[in-house]
Amino acid sequence: MTGRPTVGVLALQGDVREHLQALTGSGADAVPVRRTSELDSVDGLVIPGGESTTISKLAVAFDLLEPLRERIAAGMPAYGSCAGMILLADKVLDGVEGQRTLGGLDVTVRRNAFGRQVDSFEESIPVAGVPGGPFHAVFIRAPWVESVGSGVEVLGVVTDGEAAGRIVAVRQGALLATSFHPELGGDARLHALFVDMVRERDR
Ligand code: GLN
Repeated sequence: MTGRPTVGVLALQGDVREHLQALTGSGADAVPVRRTSELDSVDGLVIPGGESTTISKLAVAFDLLEPLRERIAAGMPAYGSCAGMILLADKVLDGVEGQRTLGGLDVTVRRNAFGRQVDSFEESIPVAGVPGGPFHAVFIRAPWVESVGSGVEVLGVVTDGEAAGRIVAVRQGALLATSFHPELGGDARLHALFVDMVRERDR
C-alpha cells in the first residue's frame, strides 16, 4: 500500500484522542473503533493506554472481544501502549481475578510493575527501529514485560535506576507494544513505525 492506510484506535476507554492525532500526523486515516463494523474497515489497530480491566470488560459488553481476538490472530497489525500492551499479552501477572486479554503477543507482562512509589515517571529510552535518538517515554502506572517468547524482538529496556534492564518495548511480527505512552510525549516516531508496519502488511 502506498497511500494512507486506515488505522483504528480502540475507543472504549483511555487516551483515544491523542492516538488519533498522532496517527493522523503519521500519514494514516485515523478512526475510532467501537463496533465490529468499524473494526472490519481498518487496516490496523491501536489499543490505547487507560485501564486494561475496564477496556476488557467494555470489549465484552460491546461484543468486541472475540472479533478483536480473531482479527489479531488473523494477522491484523496492532499496537498497544501501556494498558494496550497488557491487552495484547498472552499472559498477565498481577491482573485482577479473571482478567481477560486479547492475546497474540507471546509475552508475560506484569501489571502496575513499577510500584506505587513511582506511579509515573519519564525517561529517555533508546528504541530499536526508531532512528533519531532515544525516545522520550512517559510511564503512568505502567506494566513491564517480564518474559518474552522466542519470536519476540525486544526493542527497548529501561536504562536507569532500580528497574534498569526491564523490557518496555517489544515487537512480534505485526504486533508492537510499549509500556509507555508515546501519544503523550509529542514524539510521533513510534506511531510512524506502526503506520509503516500497517503499510508493509498490506503491500
Ligand atoms: N495500570 C493500567 C492497567 O492495568 C495501565 C495504565 C495505563 O495505561 N496508563 O491497565
